[in-house]
Amino acid sequence: MTDPHHDIRDAVRRLCARFPGSYWQALDRERAYPAEFVKALTDEGWLSVLIPETYGGAGLPLAAAAAVLEEIHRSGGNGAACHAQMYTMGVVLRHGSEAQKRRWLPQIASGELRLQAFGVTEPSSGVDTTRISTFARKDGDRYVVRGQKIWTSRAEYSDLMVLLCRTTAREEAARPSDGMSVLLVDMQQAKGRGLTIRPIRTMLNHATTELFFDDMEVPAENLVGEEGQGFRYILDGMNAERILIAAECIGDGRFFVDRASAYAKQREVFGRPIGQNQGVQFPIARAHVQLEAAAGMVARAAALYDSGQPCGTEANMAKLLASEASWFAADTCLQTHGGFGFAEEYDIERKFRETRLYQTAPIPTNLILSHVATHVLGLPKSF
Ligand SMILES: Cc1cc2nc3c(=O)[nH]c(=O)nc-3n(C[C@H](O)[C@H](O)[C@H](O)COP(=O)(O)OP(=O)(O)OC[C@H]3O[C@@H](n4cnc5c(N)ncnc54)[C@H](O)[C@@H]3O)c2cc1C
Repeated sequence: MTDPHHDIRDAVRRLCARFPGSYWQALDRERAYPAEFVKALTDEGWLSVLIPETYGGAGLPLAAAAAVLEEIHRSGGNGAACHAQMYTMGVVLRHGSEAQKRRWLPQIASGELRLQAFGVTEPSSGVDTTRISTFARKDGDRYVVRGQKIWTSRAEYSDLMVLLCRTTAREEAARPSDGMSVLLVDMQQAKGRGLTIRPIRTMLNHATTELFFDDMEVPAENLVGEEGQGFRYILDGMNAERILIAAECIGDGRFFVDRASAYAKQREVFGRPIGQNQGVQFPIARAHVQLEAAAGMVARAAALYDSGQPCGTEANMAKLLASEASWFAADTCLQTHGGFGFAEEYDIERKFRETRLYQTAPIPTNLILSHVATHVLGLPKSF
């Protein structure tokens, strides 16, 4: 089968070649943001592929965006510094007013405004999003927001944030998923005026933070869609997010298989390449098989998404399969490299840490299994 995104892959590979392992290693050491890499992606238009041409983007399907992120990860880089720009704008695109689209999307497409921050998770709600308590109280022509978010990645490097908050308390809403709303927050405006950003240092370089809202004011015109319907809007965007992150996992996995195969052919112990031993070659072959299967599910989920069909289950299954395949490939690659896999200069230990995230975020594996068990197989609900 011919790959419809062959040209995109080639161009992204060429861009990534300008940012080798040493670039990512230096950033990882300092936990620094890959500003030059993100600028290069923006300048070449890769972060705006999903924005329709009317608003200054390329108007390409999700499968094209998946190819961009897969290639970044296959090259040894990490798209997490900017991947949210691709899917968070979908909330504005699908549910925003025409005035909001005209105001924000062209500036996001050109790179003048960065929409990198996505504030959903809270410390006390966990994966039960209906329990979020950050509250936006309407006061004339503005909302006044109080509360806290955690794990809001890239907040320090974003101009705008898609924020999910309650506008009606859970107890007063008809259903737990009602009464939540989406606000588009101008972070530059809000910083120091009710918004405090505190970075969280983690096992990987992810620029993640916690946010505190202390009577942060947001103009009422920044409400996206209807008040109280925000949870539905966010769920829509989550399918795109899961498919794109699954594509990143496929890229990671292919990076690990490429590196493991190359090393196993070249490293000689006992007078022969280690890859001649089936104990070494079989796990690499298994990793390849698992990645191919997962990539098939990612392609299927993206095709359903692009044709406007329901794809929640497929997006979830793609993300589960791809994150498990990349993690197995990571472990196999590390084992194949022996002690050298632990050395920073090989990039394996860094990518190993980076790919582990995706079994927990943006949704943990257990929650996907629970979705499949109850929504697909009809098993009794546990929560
Ligand atoms: C580096 C990083 C970046 C992130 N970036 C963002 C971001 O930009 N924006 C954002 O909003 N969020 C972000 N997140 C948050 C991420 O989506 C959550 O961490 C994730 O959804 C898990 O939520 P939690 O940490 O609250 O875990 P908890 O809800 O406390 O769950 C802990 C564990 O218990 C399991 N569990 C809970 N309930 C059940 C159940 N009923 N059945 C079976 N198992 C269960 C879960 O699967 C999980 O393994 C990020 C997280 C990290 C670590």
